Amino acid sequence: RVALELREVSLTYPGSREPAVNEVSLCVRPGEFVVILGPSGCGKSTLLRLIAGFEAPDRGEVVIAGRRVSRAGEESLPPEKRKIGMVFQSYALWPHKTVRKNLSFPLEQRPIGKNEREKRVDEAIERFQLHGLGHRLPAQLSGGQAQRVALARALIAEPPLVLMDEPLSNLDAVLRQTMLEELEAMKGSWAPAVVYVTHNREEAIRLGNRILVFQRGQLLQDGSPADIYHSP
Ligand code: ADP
Ligand code: ADP
Repeated sequence: RVALELREVSLTYPGSREPAVNEVSLCVRPGEFVVILGPSGCGKSTLLRLIAGFEAPDRGEVVIAGRRVSRAGEESLPPEKRKIGMVFQSYALWPHKTVRKNLSFPLEQRPIGKNEREKRVDEAIERFQLHGLGHRLPAQLSGGQAQRVALARALIAEPPLVLMDEPLSNLDAVLRQTMLEELEAMKGSWAPAVVYVTHNREEAIRLGNRILVFQRGQLLQDGSPADIYHSP
């Protein structure tokens, strides 16, 4: 089984001469925690947006859990139908829903009864240290609190594929360590495929079981944290 497959995917933004993503092929299996590591502007976010369905490729195709969701020149499946959890800067919390409603919404798309739903929301509030914040609106949260709600929302329905774009970037040092530990623990329990984008080598080495080094729209290196750690 393959959670995610990219087949020679390219995207050049209108008006740009160089492709932001250039013939990238990639296969991710269930349970793999893949980190895409690269400097700012190398195309990491674009790659993630292609997987999520916020962009359509102008070459190649994207397959999620055996289903082709995008192919150049054809209409793509919209993001909300792709069964993925997302933590993106540009995919904000729903501003008019409380924290509890933000968390329960992904579960409402599933055949889960109300009691079970409420129980899972309670568990997420516990796990992500959101006590006392359930009835607040996103605008009433700190940056770090909002980021934890976003993470909880992405994971709560246990999707087979989770995409994260610099999810720890707005957190202070203490919270960042807590969330790193939380993400590390996640690797041991339920096993979605995770594709995690960062420019931070420490995060990559701690979290990834596989690290892809990205530069100028292309995959330069694909290996274990040890391979990447010992490379120059
Ligand atoms: P990263 O996430 O690694 O910082 P991005 O995927 O955001 O990289 O950007 C890759 C390249 O594409 C950069 O040169 C960036 O300026 C450009 N780019 C990103 N988004 C757009 C867009 N919507 N329109 C035009 N160019 C874009
Ligand atoms: P990130 O590095 O997290 O992608 P950025 O600050 O680079 O964040 O980009 C923020 C937003 O601006 C993104 O939605 C991206 O698509 C867009 N963007 C980035 N570069 C360009 C560009 N050269 N032209 C147009 N939009 C861009």
